[in-house]
Amino acid sequence: MPHYDLHCHSTCSDGLLTPGEVVRRAAAHGVDVLALTDHDEMQGLPEARAAAQDANIELVDGAELSVSWEEHTLHVVALRVDPENAPLVQGLASIRSGRDLRAQRIADALAAAGIPGALEGARKYVTSERLICRTHFARFLVEGGHARDMKDAFRQYLTAGKPGFVAHAWATLPQALEWIHGAGGQAVLAHPGRYNVSSQGMRRLLQDFRDAGGDAIEVVSPSHTAAQYAQFASHARMFGFKASCGSDFHGPGESWMDLGALPPLPAGVQPVWSSW
Ligand code: AMP
Ligand code: MN
Ligand code: MN
Ligand code: MN
Repeated sequence: MPHYDLHCHSTCSDGLLTPGEVVRRAAAHGVDVLALTDHDEMQGLPEARAAAQDANIELVDGAELSVSWEEHTLHVVALRVDPENAPLVQGLASIRSGRDLRAQRIADALAAAGIPGALEGARKYVTSERLICRTHFARFLVEGGHARDMKDAFRQYLTAGKPGFVAHAWATLPQALEWIHGAGGQAVLAHPGRYNVSSQGMRRLLQDFRDAGGDAIEVVSPSHTAAQYAQFASHARMFGFKASCGSDFHGPGESWMDLGALPPLPAGVQPVWSSW
């Protein structure tokens, strides 16, 4: 059975390795099929594709789209999209375009909380001028001793209700899924266990995702406990979604799970790759 890892990041968004380095690390760690899924970005795919040919692994063209739903931010992983598809390319650009202003507002909020210079500080960690993420702010906060580690930086400053959090309107769910399907891809709800919703809210979310045409949900993710693997496998069966898995790798030493370390999907689900 080939090892699939369908979610990871490179320096084209908030990862620490270049697309080529990510692919070579995946190959060295036993991954057979890898999707590069940078936040709101597909620019790393040509380099990743060339590296995958050299390393003899299969690359899936992907991206992870930022979406607003109710008062939450969701992530939708696009798999097997055409990276040249103009509406998707433009759609991703439109999602990214709000990030600069948001970063300025995050920096202002952190300054008001007594931490000046955050925009310049975060920019030192930015690896693509096309995209600034909260991750870059988190690295700055850790470096400055304001947080113990990345998780702590998010917990103290960068999540809803905390001093450096700024609400932002991303793409809508129907819009994101239209772009993904228009580009020939599949839409996967990323790490559903990470959204701060009630069990009723989760049902509403999964219904809305299905109504918008969602294809699969991530069942195995480092954001989930083993109990959640079983829970989301059951949700997938109940709602008729396929199941996906991804390490959400961002870089050595900074990630919850390394490339090649994913456990298998639970029995009884239909893998997202079953139709490939
Ligand atoms: P953004 O798209 O700018 O809102 O940044 C989202 C990114 O922040 C995610 O993709 C993760 O890489 C990172 N992130 C979010 N929450 C956490 C957390 N609790 N610990 C570490 N990284 C996080
Ligand atoms: Mn990220
Ligand atoms: Mn995500
Ligand atoms: Mn991710």
